[in-house]
Amino acid sequence: MLSKLENQIQILNSKSSVWSVMEEMTQSENQEEAFYVCDIGNIIKKYLNWKKLMPRVETYYAVKCNDHPFVLETLATLGTGFDCASKEEISKILDLNVQPTRIIFANPAKPESHIKYAETVNILRMTFDNQLELEKIKRSHPNAELILRIKYDDEMAHYKFGGKFGCDHLTEAPELLTKAQQLGIKVIGVSFHIGSGSQNPKVYGEAIKAARHVFDLASNIGFKFNILDIGGGFPGAHGTSIEEISKNVNENINLHFSDPSIKIVAEPGRYYVDSAFTVATRIHSIATTKPDSTGIFTYMYYVNTGAYSTFMNVFFNEQYKPQALNKNKRDKKYPTIIWGPTCDSLDKICEKNKMPKMNIGDWIAFENMGAYTLTISSNFNGFPIPKVHGVVCEKLWKKYKHLMMGSEIKFDNCKEHLRCQLSEKLLYSNKFSSVN
Ligand code: PLP
Repeated sequence: MLSKLENQIQILNSKSSVWSVMEEMTQSENQEEAFYVCDIGNIIKKYLNWKKLMPRVETYYAVKCNDHPFVLETLATLGTGFDCASKEEISKILDLNVQPTRIIFANPAKPESHIKYAETVNILRMTFDNQLELEKIKRSHPNAELILRIKYDDEMAHYKFGGKFGCDHLTEAPELLTKAQQLGIKVIGVSFHIGSGSQNPKVYGEAIKAARHVFDLASNIGFKFNILDIGGGFPGAHGTSIEEISKNVNENINLHFSDPSIKIVAEPGRYYVDSAFTVATRIHSIATTKPDSTGIFTYMYYVNTGAYSTFMNVFFNEQYKPQALNKNKRDKKYPTIIWGPTCDSLDKICEKNKMPKMNIGDWIAFENMGAYTLTISSNFNGFPIPKVHGVVCEKLWKKYKHLMMGSEIKFDNCKEHLRCQLSEKLLYSNKFSSVN
């Protein structure tokens, strides 16, 4: 892993930054296509922050959020686990030499062929929320260790999952557990996902309490549960504060799951990658609207990646904030609409922003573009999905390399959990935590 990454990323000295790299790249005559810059240091810092805020909660990164090799290799090296939704995602993670024990197949409704594949590659843990899924798993992977997904939505979350997944913890969970026992299937714990882009930290606490109820129920039926999976929904660059969430999570874990033998895991996606990616787009066409009643007209800029690719979340009311590259911040600003490159009239990125007057060939950047961008992009109308340029600051990289070399020594001889302990030791050494 170490060598693969090292050849591909740009090491930044103290005078350069993501912004300066983008300005440099966009001034090169060779650069025409839109591109992302991924700051690997930002992912490492997120990992460290999580360990500090919720030391008892192990993270299983949700691969669906961004499966770029920079992200997966960095997190695999740091020692996180992975939440995979499909055969493809599982195979991608196994290719990084991650042990099957560090994968949860966290899709409650799985095609049977994917379950069979999980069996052949020794993935045991998977989620379920209904009886037919139980029967399917019994047929194709009878030794699987199941995690019961309960429904617990933050009603204010940007993307809620309760309409699609999860059983009712009071009425349906008892029936499903009884059925699992009749079928002789091992159920080992409970999971929930309060919604991506959650807004109310208290819902984590309420859902943890609901999960406790299911643990007790399971114990009465004869199961011995050992894992609680608190899902995703943690903020990326915006939204509620991770500090506030961590307080609520820690308090409720201490209250309801004080037994340290119960493993507590989470499946953050957005949290790890949102702020690590910035995208640079190039203007290839310009038009203006007719002037309004006050004589003001709006500039319309057409850039080379849009709503069917990098900015797909505009269809789900995501707001984007454009920033002009290589322009003087004091330049006069004008009303602006930014369009994507396709012939579709819905391909609009944003329209309520003021920007300096731009020319064809100028570049516009957007920060916080790591979550659910690359993985849901299409090349509709033939426009390519932007490539990713990786960077990391030199100071952090030296420590990261040190960590990885340490990991590799252990990796050769020991079980995966030793590798993680080693990572933590290195991460919390004074040297590492002095990086800011
Ligand atoms: N876990 C599961 C099962 C999911 O479906 C998702 C997102 O769809 C996630 C985790 C990641 O959620 P987030 O990016 O909000 O952390």
